[in-house]
Amino acid sequence: MKKFHGIPIAPGIARGVAWPILPVEAGPTPRYAVSTECVAGEHVRLEEALDFACGELLALKRSLTAKLEDADTAIMDVHVALLRDPSFLADVKARIHRDLVTAEHAVAVETESMVARFLQMENAYMRERASDLRDIGTRLLSAFTRGAHPSDRHASFPANSIVIAAELMPSQAAELDPGRVVGILTEIGGPSSHAAILARSFGIPFVTGIPDVVQLVQRGESILIDGYTGETILSPTAPATLRFDVLLKEHEDYTEAIIHHRHEPCLTTDGVRVTLHANIGSVSEVSTVLDNGLDGVGLFRTEFLFLGTAHAPRLSVHERIYRSVLQPLRDRPVTIRVLDLGEDKIPEFLRARPKLCHRFNVRGLRFALAFPNFLRTQLRGLLRASSDGNVRILFPMVVGVDDFQAAVAHVAWAAEKEKLTAMPPVGAMIETPSALFELDGIIEFADFLSVGTNDLTQYLLAASREDTDYEGHYSMLYPGVLKALQHIVDRAARAECDVSVCGEAAGIPAVACLLVGMGFRILSMSPHRSAAVRHALRLMSANELKQIATDALQMRRVADIRRHIKERMESRVQPVHDSHAAGVEAIV
Ligand code: PEP
Ligand code: MG
Repeated sequence: MKKFHGIPIAPGIARGVAWPILPVEAGPTPRYAVSTECVAGEHVRLEEALDFACGELLALKRSLTAKLEDADTAIMDVHVALLRDPSFLADVKARIHRDLVTAEHAVAVETESMVARFLQMENAYMRERASDLRDIGTRLLSAFTRGAHPSDRHASFPANSIVIAAELMPSQAAELDPGRVVGILTEIGGPSSHAAILARSFGIPFVTGIPDVVQLVQRGESILIDGYTGETILSPTAPATLRFDVLLKEHEDYTEAIIHHRHEPCLTTDGVRVTLHANIGSVSEVSTVLDNGLDGVGLFRTEFLFLGTAHAPRLSVHERIYRSVLQPLRDRPVTIRVLDLGEDKIPEFLRARPKLCHRFNVRGLRFALAFPNFLRTQLRGLLRASSDGNVRILFPMVVGVDDFQAAVAHVAWAAEKEKLTAMPPVGAMIETPSALFELDGIIEFADFLSVGTNDLTQYLLAASREDTDYEGHYSMLYPGVLKALQHIVDRAARAECDVSVCGEAAGIPAVACLLVGMGFRILSMSPHRSAAVRHALRLMSANELKQIATDALQMRRVADIRRHIKERMESRVQPVHDSHAAGVEAIV
């Protein structure tokens, strides 16, 4: 028996047999010199290969939709958009022309240079896009010979397979058959990689961060995976297998229980109603809001409209996207957060303009204010779409009255342009230390507040939110963070201003309970975590939660607070493990 501690990035318990899969490679790319007269012909071959590859992706999207009810098929749309990116096409064409090389060679070189650029980015989310780029590069190279992407050709999986790979590409993940694949184990991968997102949609536990796993594992070897803690056991002994069988059964019972209650009202045992909202980042996730019986969208992240595209999105694009989120949700509130860019989240179309780079060093609202045209276009699109539903506008990273007032003035300008007589509610995200001290002023101008615990924790503790070392330096349970949260909810209540929490922490059952104990009544989270949060809140009384929170706030040490929460709540709200797999140790 060999035991490892990996990083859990999709929850669940699995017992199965190893099924190593090969890395996806397109095979050698022909590199021979082409004459100047042949350049145009290479350009045509390139465009034909692009069409073929996009056609394949659309077919894959269709098969994915058939496999998953609420599949995040937007992943395939992202790949099509990356392939269709005019600046990528222009760069490859220019390289063919300049170096007089084959289209295949130019694609390989340009893809590698893009991958290298993304791998150097500080933001983990952006780094994880490198595997998307490698994946589409492989697909495009295969398309020159009209070959299917290598992942579309692999053999079917035996029953109870645990897929083993150095890295799982998004198209390999899209090909997994959840009826036969029960787990995934890789050397590298990240929680926001598209492979991890798909694994979570399929309900397949995924553990990564096991060095040399491909060499360590024999095909057919027995494996146990805990997608909550990262524990991984190769060739387990009988007692280890027995222990996992108990976990597996508990996991199945727990999952069934939380799913069973997902349309019940979120009421504590003493009748206090907690509103549960969704955090979403793409149109395709709208169905998950309804599937999980959520009351609305508390945070619609709109960065995807700006990142990975060659041009700033036009007004009509904004309008179309927002309408498609609003229409299915009808009267439910939809909180649309305007562009939260800056520092390492810089759109490609701005990177290409180095003269503007002095404006890149601020984040969130101040970045938006430095590019008023993007902000105004987005606000106009949003206001146009507002006739389709119940829109609320949210500004990220507000630092005080000045920037928030300037933002509200832009909304007023856009409303006038769109000839609207009434503005939708406008809110401020509280996620900078400065905003904590400026709360009363911000509240004067805000219709609602939304607390971004991801950034607030990071800036209060000087600990990166990307921290995955499990040392627990980044934890919202630090006394200073809890006091900040209590301050926000108290000040908002005094001013009768609605306040919600939309950071990841709100999706962890025990933490969600603690927040309700402090007085928060609106929580926004990834839809797939909401069933566990609802289940937990329905088991607790608001009175008891208030006492637990009051006691926690008296404590001076994070270890004591952790122990207190575990002792007072865990046995009831987390029967198996915390349902938030990725990074839970780091947060709690
Ligand atoms: C936050 O910071 O808590 C938040 C919700 O915003 P984001 O994660 O998009 O920065
Ligand atoms: Mg934030």
